[in-house]
Amino acid sequence: MTTVFVTGGAGFIGSAVCRYLIERTDAQVVNLDKLTYAGNLQSLKTIEDNPRYRFVQGDIGDRELVSALLRDARPTHVMHLAAESHVDRSIRGAGDFIDTNIVGTFRLLEAARAYRDELSGEARDQFRFLHVSTDEVYGTLGDTGYFVETTPYAPNSPYSASKAASDHLVRAWFHTYGFPALISNCSNNYGPYQYPEKLVGRTITRALARQSLPVFGQGLNIRDWLYVEDHAQALWLVVSRGRLGEQYNIGGRNERRNIDLVKRICTLLDAKTSDAPAGGYASLIEFVVDRAGHDFRYAIDATKIETELGWKAEHDFDSGIEATVDWYLTNEWWWKPLLHGAA
Ligand code: NAD
Repeated sequence: MTTVFVTGGAGFIGSAVCRYLIERTDAQVVNLDKLTYAGNLQSLKTIEDNPRYRFVQGDIGDRELVSALLRDARPTHVMHLAAESHVDRSIRGAGDFIDTNIVGTFRLLEAARAYRDELSGEARDQFRFLHVSTDEVYGTLGDTGYFVETTPYAPNSPYSASKAASDHLVRAWFHTYGFPALISNCSNNYGPYQYPEKLVGRTITRALARQSLPVFGQGLNIRDWLYVEDHAQALWLVVSRGRLGEQYNIGGRNERRNIDLVKRICTLLDAKTSDAPAGGYASLIEFVVDRAGHDFRYAIDATKIETELGWKAEHDFDSGIEATVDWYLTNEWWWKPLLHGAA
């Protein structure tokens, strides 16, 4: 039997992973999440009553709790997504990022290593640990070129530095202890159930509230956008079929300048709502002082996962962004209660 221990499964990507596993595989799922401001059990409503799904509130750094859960659930796979994930918050204060992303990952690794050491035979051979990370660990690109798995690490924000540190821990646990781990590095995700502090959700929800749409600098920074459900599918492929000790870049080959992304959302909202402001939603765009240390461009070369594992993003940017706008338009119940905390 396949049992997946997901950390951070009440977050944006983690909840997509839990929904994917329950809806598209036969796996049992145990979801451990601390429920920080970013964790939301409402994102799991469609699977919460499924007998193969179980939620536990707790911290990945709580060694006793994690060890007891692992012994009880006997997972074949761990998918580690729990993290502090918002760059702007990390600039305002990095403490939680160090605690969860670095120390928490260390404690989780140690609990998982001890659990695996107790396994034998097929259970031991089957066990795998996926650490979910970001392309931001590679730093920034100029106008050309792509991040490949061998690009040297050069993190520029407290967030990306904390993720880079945790990637290095996972790598070292593989090489030092033979711990069966893999790492994935993904580009910017967007889609349903994203906390409205990040660019896509923030732009849609603020536009609908007729608030200004802040864009850093001149909006010329470029991100490579991936629809979250494509990411969830890729993560399951990597943890179930990837080669141990390997790193896999995941990206949708959908580069956009921030300003073009925001304008696209405005155009969609103009067409889909009956009460657009005079001049359209784009009239709400406001350029604000650039983020400190703002990386100019991220772009993923996803050749390795495409050729080795046969993965390809199903959504291109146009279909994904339209599906996302439609989702926010029809699911106010999910995001409205979150607006007061979205900073
Ligand atoms: P998120 O902020 O939406 O969710 C993080 C989840 O982790 C929340 O549910 C939170 O409650 C939980 N959590 C935080 N600290 C915890 C702790 N100490 N113990 C247990 N649970 C804890 O993040 P996300 O956008 O879903 O990102 C998930 C993972 O993917 C992160 O590791 C992030 O670095 C990585 N990632 C995100 C993106 C992106 O665009 N969002 C891109 C690439 C990689």
